[in-house]
Amino acid sequence: MSAGSSIVWFRRDLRIIDHPALTRAVADGPTLPLFVIDPEFATSSRPRRAALAAMLGALDGALGGALHIAVGDPVDVVPQVAAAVGASAVHVSRDYGPYGHRRDAAVAERLGADGRRLLGTGSNLLVDPTTVTKADGTPYAVFTPFSRTWRSVLGESGNTDLLDAPSRPDWITGVPGHVGDPRPALGLTEADEAPIGGGHLDLSTDEALARWDRFRTSGLDRYGERRDLPAEDGTSSMSSALRFGLVHPARLLADLDPGSEDHRTFESELCWRDFYADVLFRRPETAWQNLDRRLDRIALDTDDRARERFALWCAGRTGFEIVDAGMRQLAATGWMHNRVRMIVASFLVKDLHLPWQWGARFFMEHLVDGDLASNNHGWQWAAGTGTDAAPYFRVFNPVTQAERWDPDRAYRSRWVAELDTADYPAPMVDHGREREEALARYKAARGG
Ligand SMILES: Cc1cc2nc3c(=O)[nH]c(=O)nc-3n(C[C@H](O)[C@H](O)[C@H](O)COP(=O)(O)OP(=O)(O)OC[C@H]3O[C@@H](n4cnc5c(N)ncnc54)[C@H](O)[C@@H]3O)c2cc1C
Repeated sequence: MSAGSSIVWFRRDLRIIDHPALTRAVADGPTLPLFVIDPEFATSSRPRRAALAAMLGALDGALGGALHIAVGDPVDVVPQVAAAVGASAVHVSRDYGPYGHRRDAAVAERLGADGRRLLGTGSNLLVDPTTVTKADGTPYAVFTPFSRTWRSVLGESGNTDLLDAPSRPDWITGVPGHVGDPRPALGLTEADEAPIGGGHLDLSTDEALARWDRFRTSGLDRYGERRDLPAEDGTSSMSSALRFGLVHPARLLADLDPGSEDHRTFESELCWRDFYADVLFRRPETAWQNLDRRLDRIALDTDDRARERFALWCAGRTGFEIVDAGMRQLAATGWMHNRVRMIVASFLVKDLHLPWQWGARFFMEHLVDGDLASNNHGWQWAAGTGTDAAPYFRVFNPVTQAERWDPDRAYRSRWVAELDTADYPAPMVDHGREREEALARYKAARGG
């Protein structure tokens, strides 16, 4: 192979536009596009693995059939493939998740021992973790001041460049060890179709960009007014495309008009994504531990009765219509509306007194857009254990929330077929009583 050959190793960036690491690799000379099916993916949900299989097919198509898919621990596989093609460098988009970051450090070390380099360019975020800090260099603990500084550094140190797909790439092909059908290695059978997604899932960059185009022209200007109405298509449904990197958020950002309040609201949602990635990068233990350790003392229910209550929540059989509708939307489609995510999360923590980690794990097992930072810190927000300033006394009332955001019951009747029949269960708890109980427990944990 030529001395200038390199590898671009795809991970959460399954696209060929707006991909600075790919652009850089191709500029160096012959390039092998690589994806590694890591045994660690077995811990990922079946819908997410099925979506990945389909997305790899689309990426391979975009690369003219050149995608090399290998199977095994990347710490072994990436250096082996690099040696096989004589690559001097392996290019990646930086990964700031706890697992990805550790993995990349180990891969870099192994490559280094062979005189090769792992080169990170860009990431799947708009602003990389640790970039947004207070004037004295310390991190922000809450969102609003973070978002102000985030806006001010975006243009200068953000990942905002839009790039065309590389022209005239010289792909390296025919490398041994390629797996033509990724499904067996992903623990999927031929019968496993990609999840339907209930209209919220795209499997290729083209599909995701077409969705964005529709939302940009018909939804964005009414985002503020419609984003909390779960019966409507009022949000972008870009979360899975962003999760897998079918599109980079810079593409969405570039279309926003800073003069529009709706657009600015949408921009701040992209900022939340960066904020939680920043928090998790700085405090990786907060994936599963309370950010606010004072709340470790809170009394939680974890006995057999708690497990039975958890099972009713998972099955969408709580007797609270909006909670049940949300849980059934999740089971059927792998997606749930944001307002309803907040309601079902609050219900699990504040009405059932269960550990937020139970709900977070269940979400990760079912969401196609499941992302450790956004999910687990979304759960910590609901539990009042996370970054929010004064949240522990916020308890969502599932009945008034439903009346407010789903006034004609369109969302609830779409997902709970037996709503007005004798088959629908009575409410499993008395919300007023459980609210008082939750407040008492939080108060006690915070020392009165
Ligand atoms: C308990 C809970 C768990 C969540 N789990 C996840 C998850 O695993 N993966 C995930 O991507 N989002 C998660 N979210 C955030 C949010 O619910 C989803 O991003 C959103 O519903 C996706 O739909 P959309 O693309 O139509 O959003 P839009 O309203 O169109 O927002 C645009 C994009 O902004 C980002 N975004 C929006 N809201 C948030 C937020 N609160 N936190 C971080 N990013 C946000 C997403 O990338 C989203 O695609 C969670 C929220 C809660 C309350």
